[in-house]
Amino acid sequence: MHDKLRILLVEDSEDDAMLLLHHLRKGGYTIDYKRVETAESMAVLLKEDEWDIVLSDYVMPHFNGLDALMMLKESGHDVPFIIISGTIGEEIAVEAMKSGAHDYLMKDHLTRLIPAIERELREAKSRAERKQAENQLRILSRAVDQSPAMILITDTDGAIDYVNPKFTEVTGYSSMEAIGKNPRILNSGKMAESFFKEMWETISTRKTWSNEMINKKKNGVLYWASTSISPIVDKNGIITHYVGLSEDISEKKKIEEELIIAKERAEESDRMKTAFLHNISHEIRTPMNSIVGFSDLLVSNFDNKENLEQFSQIIKQRSSDLLEIINSILDIATIESGQLPVRLGNCNLQDVFEDLSHFFGEYQQRTGKQSIEFIINSLPVASDFVIRTDAVKLKQIFINLITNAFKYTKSGRIEAGCKLEDDYHLQFYVSDTGIGIPKDAQKSIFERFVKLNPEHYTLQDGTGLGLSIVKELTEMLGGTVWFESEPGKGSTFFFNIAYEMVLSTPHPKSASTDSKNELFKNYTILVVEDDPGNTLFLNHLLSGLGFTVVYTQSGMEAVDLASKLPIDLVLMDIALPDISGYEATRLIKEQNQNLKIIAQTAYATQEDIQKSFDSAFDDHISKPYNLNKLLPILKKHLKLK
Ligand code: ADP
Repeated sequence: MHDKLRILLVEDSEDDAMLLLHHLRKGGYTIDYKRVETAESMAVLLKEDEWDIVLSDYVMPHFNGLDALMMLKESGHDVPFIIISGTIGEEIAVEAMKSGAHDYLMKDHLTRLIPAIERELREAKSRAERKQAENQLRILSRAVDQSPAMILITDTDGAIDYVNPKFTEVTGYSSMEAIGKNPRILNSGKMAESFFKEMWETISTRKTWSNEMINKKKNGVLYWASTSISPIVDKNGIITHYVGLSEDISEKKKIEEELIIAKERAEESDRMKTAFLHNISHEIRTPMNSIVGFSDLLVSNFDNKENLEQFSQIIKQRSSDLLEIINSILDIATIESGQLPVRLGNCNLQDVFEDLSHFFGEYQQRTGKQSIEFIINSLPVASDFVIRTDAVKLKQIFINLITNAFKYTKSGRIEAGCKLEDDYHLQFYVSDTGIGIPKDAQKSIFERFVKLNPEHYTLQDGTGLGLSIVKELTEMLGGTVWFESEPGKGSTFFFNIAYEMVLSTPHPKSASTDSKNELFKNYTILVVEDDPGNTLFLNHLLSGLGFTVVYTQSGMEAVDLASKLPIDLVLMDIALPDISGYEATRLIKEQNQNLKIIAQTAYATQEDIQKSFDSAFDDHISKPYNLNKLLPILKKHLKLK
């Protein structure tokens, strides 16, 4: 019994049609048919229905078999077309077959009908299957060709049989170059033998192997590939080929690695910040403990002059330690926030070295390090050597390096100096005969928050910020910093800065720090200060030196006093209740350009100091200060020896 056969019958004779159907039914077919005898009705049926076969008469009054055949072909249906005619001659039969008819039969010889239909249906089926397979192959081939992944097929020995265009695009090997070779042409040498061993073990047991690996392109460039390799098996389950799918993930890897580095950095920075906070907290607490403790003792020892002196000395020393810590934190915070612009100005090297000499003279006394020899080795022409640079930053670099030299030197000598490196760079150095820096730590000491293991360094605690500030400041001045050090023998830190020569100006003679009351008795100083404690302190200090002191806490009143009284110098606070110290100074200078005005303020960042110099001030002194700091400034601006 056959399936139901859907027949389109092109036949003008009803009787002939019946006869035909009878034959077919006899042959075991169940039939679903429609009969047409015109082109129009055939066109309608071809469009509306699906057919298994067309059986067509050849000669009809309104139509003929060849036209019916053409119509079928044009409709795109690949259905067997058999001509069944009473009159067809050999010539016509040949023409019909040439035109694509599948067979022809005579109406009076229908014995061949059933076998012919069976054969044609079989062939039509295999044609349809072939067509479908071809179609699938075409799609597959296009997909493989256009695949965004590299595809590589090898035989069971590993010889390449096929590579797609993406493979060529990424690796640089054309298919001609790749075919027949082993995929080892991509071997970068970066993957262990065990990696490939595991791959073979997996795929030879018919499993899919996937992993990421570093491969090498034809031009030698390495790339990261995410690869999957699977065996291809035939219908008997025998492996015939291996197919590898691979994607260049170098970009992804790069981003991944960058993310990992960024994460590690963030974690490291977090760890360092936490460690830093612990350090800072410890270091602030240590001097604070002494300050608080000895302040209490001061009260209870009010009558004991010797104790009083000793305790105040300790409080003073601890306070300046505290100040140093706060200054470092401020500096690093300002640098980190990018708010520390380079302010170029004329800078006399002699002034820089003199300031350093005063500063460290006082430092040695304060820290009891007078036994260490401290020498400044300036250029022979330093007094006339005026360069354009940021003097405040230059001094700060020196202060940090020389302070370190003192901190890490027990005895011997510290030398700071300068030489011309070339026409555009000056080289400075600070050498010491201290403990030196162990080789394994030499790389890290410029990093923020790095201070060496306190086990080895019990001489002095630090914040671990000094050298990173030095590095940043030097770079801001267009230079670099480096060092040479031998543990146990000492260290020399060098830094160079870019500079520009400026026409030299005569240099005032350096001031001595002696105080003689007589010296100041004809001078009047205007103190503009709104803090009563500071006013009291300044009044005490300046009157003690012999100055006449005029005092106001208002900026406007200061402008007024400066215009009315014979003032020789003004000590100006910045934060005042009415107008700012900057504004008051500007107004005073409008009236009297030559009156020296010194900013004295607790805004002690590098930026504040620079701001004072940039505005109309002649100089700057940061609070808290003492006689040693104030005196040279007063002498300098009053032009006293
Ligand atoms: P610190 O505040 O701890 O001194 P720095 O950043 O200035 O921080 O220095 C980092 C570390 O480098 C110091 O803790 C110290 O161990 C080492 N170091 C710096 N300068 C010297 C020096 N002149 N001699 C020996 N060791 C030094």
